[in-house]
Amino acid sequence: MTNNASATPSKIAFIGLGNMGAPMAKNLLKHGFDVTVFDLSDAALASLKEAGAKTATSPLQAAEETEVVITMLPAGKHVKSVYLGDGSENKGLLAALPKGTLVIDSSTIAAADARVVAQAAGEHGVAFLDAPVSGGTAGAAAGTLTFIVGGDAEVFARAKPILAAMGKNIFHAGDHGAGQVAKICNNMLLGILMSGTAEALNLGIKNGLDPAVLSDIMLQSSGRNWTLEVYNPYPNVMETVPASKNYAGGFMSAHMHKDLHLALQTAADTGVEVPMGSQATELYDEHIENYAEQDFSSIIGRYAPEVLSDVK
Ligand code: NAD
Repeated sequence: MTNNASATPSKIAFIGLGNMGAPMAKNLLKHGFDVTVFDLSDAALASLKEAGAKTATSPLQAAEETEVVITMLPAGKHVKSVYLGDGSENKGLLAALPKGTLVIDSSTIAAADARVVAQAAGEHGVAFLDAPVSGGTAGAAAGTLTFIVGGDAEVFARAKPILAAMGKNIFHAGDHGAGQVAKICNNMLLGILMSGTAEALNLGIKNGLDPAVLSDIMLQSSGRNWTLEVYNPYPNVMETVPASKNYAGGFMSAHMHKDLHLALQTAADTGVEVPMGSQATELYDEHIENYAEQDFSSIIGRYAPEVLSDVK
């Protein structure tokens, strides 16, 4: 496969090679982009080097002579540190990037943080998009992610061929921050659905039902939802999901917890009621005390602790 869109820049700096970033960067390589990567983890860098990427020792070095920078970092503080610096020697990438560089942040962060970075980018003549994703690690590996983008329409058009190498559905949600607002609405719903699905499965199992049989019944009935379709939280109902791998990999409970709090903060700031979102947040508040690094489907352990007995 090649990058055959003639106006599309071919050199990309990719920063943040975790559960999502690594497979996303690999898809850019598969589409013929020239990718230079940076992460704090040597193991993550080694894996991308093996896949054909150039590696760098800092975000700045990764971004040398590139026209596009993509970040996939855990939270707002990491994104702000990379782009704006931390007030010490680290002056941040934006100050160093040539005017006209396209910056795409795909991390899930507060819309307010995305707007702060967008404003600073504008002051440096850099084009910024918030472009969080949905679709999980399976979607990242398959190149079928949904991108939910906030920013100028013409910058969105410039980014689209690059995002298309990593995703299937690419939405322009609105101006700066709109991508993040849409993303946390989606993830608040996902947190509610995962908790509710775990609760319903446990009720059936504790009343003698087989988890696979009950899952199949609800999948063909009105309780059907994404978690039952592709991400069943009970072990060994689905072969390849984190629940069948001791809840390793996937989408960490800590990240779901972060997203639920982003949703609650947005609701509080705008005077919107989210009682179901608040309930799900309480469950994850408690859950991350012991299972922050396990996939978010491990919330089923709140109801069925036996499924977490082998989790370290
Ligand atoms: P992760 O924790 O697996 O990966 C984050 C990576 O960033 C790690 O490799 C870490 O070493 C690196 N990193 C941290 N600080 C850095 C810095 N200053 N410079 C360079 N690298 C740095 O997280 P993830 O699951 O890949 O998620 C990334 C983002 O995507 C999060 O905001 C998450 O909420 C969001 N997200 C995740 C999923 C999912 O299913 N995992 C789905 C949609 C969105």
